[in-house]
Amino acid sequence: MDIRIQGIAKTYGQSPALHGVDLDIRSGELIGLLGPSGSGKTTLLRIIAGLESPTSGKIFFGQDDASTRTVQERRVGFVFQHYALFRHMTVADNVAYGLAVRPRRERPSRAEIARRVAELLDLVQLGSFGGRFPGQLSGGQRQRVALARALAVEPKVLLLDEPFGALDAKVRKDLRRWLREIHDKTGHTTVFVTHDQDEALELSDRIAVLDKGRIDQLGVPDDIYDHPASPFVFGFIGESSRVPAVVADGRVLVDGTPLGFDAAGLPDGPATLFVRPHDVALAEAGHGTLNGIAVAQRRAGATRRIEVAVGAQHTVIEADLPAARQGEIGKPIGLRLLGGSVFAVSGAVRHFRTAPSADAVVVRPSVFGRAG
Ligand code: ADP
Ligand code: MG
Repeated sequence: MDIRIQGIAKTYGQSPALHGVDLDIRSGELIGLLGPSGSGKTTLLRIIAGLESPTSGKIFFGQDDASTRTVQERRVGFVFQHYALFRHMTVADNVAYGLAVRPRRERPSRAEIARRVAELLDLVQLGSFGGRFPGQLSGGQRQRVALARALAVEPKVLLLDEPFGALDAKVRKDLRRWLREIHDKTGHTTVFVTHDQDEALELSDRIAVLDKGRIDQLGVPDDIYDHPASPFVFGFIGESSRVPAVVADGRVLVDGTPLGFDAAGLPDGPATLFVRPHDVALAEAGHGTLNGIAVAQRRAGATRRIEVAVGAQHTVIEADLPAARQGEIGKPIGLRLLGGSVFAVSGAVRHFRTAPSADAVVVRPSVFGRAG
């Protein structure tokens, strides 16, 4: 089921939560709505579900204007962050609920309901848990039951609002992969809300990044990560340093040093450069090298993250070094930037990537141990 979201705005009292959001969701796609707390993710999801009415705008389910349809008529499956299972019902009865409460004419037979419940419990790998009560399950298991219950009504669209948000990191990671597998098996059109960028990047076919009630960028995960459309998206997705820069005569300068990549298309004037720690390499002083002093370091997984203060403003740029490298603090260090994005005040952006030069030390997790 294609879903077309057209100019959806929502204002609570005086405060706008969504400003004219447009979004086309393709049939069978798993789309991630990613944004910080308060950016409007839940509001948008509740409007798609019909639990909330928009101040203006329209939603189409296929060709059908859903604006006039009730929650029941929209046939959405919903999973929330906080397990909304019925505590006094068994797991099987919870999953059966949406079918059992249908009007008699549309209700499947008892045997048919039992068959479907068993099938769904198998799908979420809880085949032998039908007789248990929610209180006898772990958090992750309860969310799997919640998903089975949402799927039971054969929804046209599955809406998941931070379904793993209350679970610990390891369980979340497992459930993420598991959800992707289920999605690939069942092919439901799915909207997945999260504030967790890793979750969105790993799960989604496409991601819509929300900021203050607007979609800042819509794209496949690679696009969002490699070509962020705004300073907000760059800062929100992945790790990065934000560095004041200047564009002059088609060049980008930081602290007076031309970085050696061309800024064609960007207007002269102040700009902001974003760079990720794995795109910063150590380099001998020379053309295009930024010079600074190491001010802090810490172990970050396979690498050592080092903070280098550059220029009169002591702008901190983070770089990843081999974990074996220690004792840099207080020493002068030369940096070369291998990739990143430059945003002009106007919002114009230029992404760059250079081939590492011979003297550069580049650390990526995949080459860890061989570099340096
Ligand atoms: P998110 O899910 O991204 O955290 P929400 O959609 O819950 O964001 O909220 C977006 C904005 O709308 C926030 O500023 C929030 O305070 C406000 N908001 C959400 N629901 C209500 C409500 N029922 N009444 C008033 N304001 C609300
Ligand atoms: Mg929310």
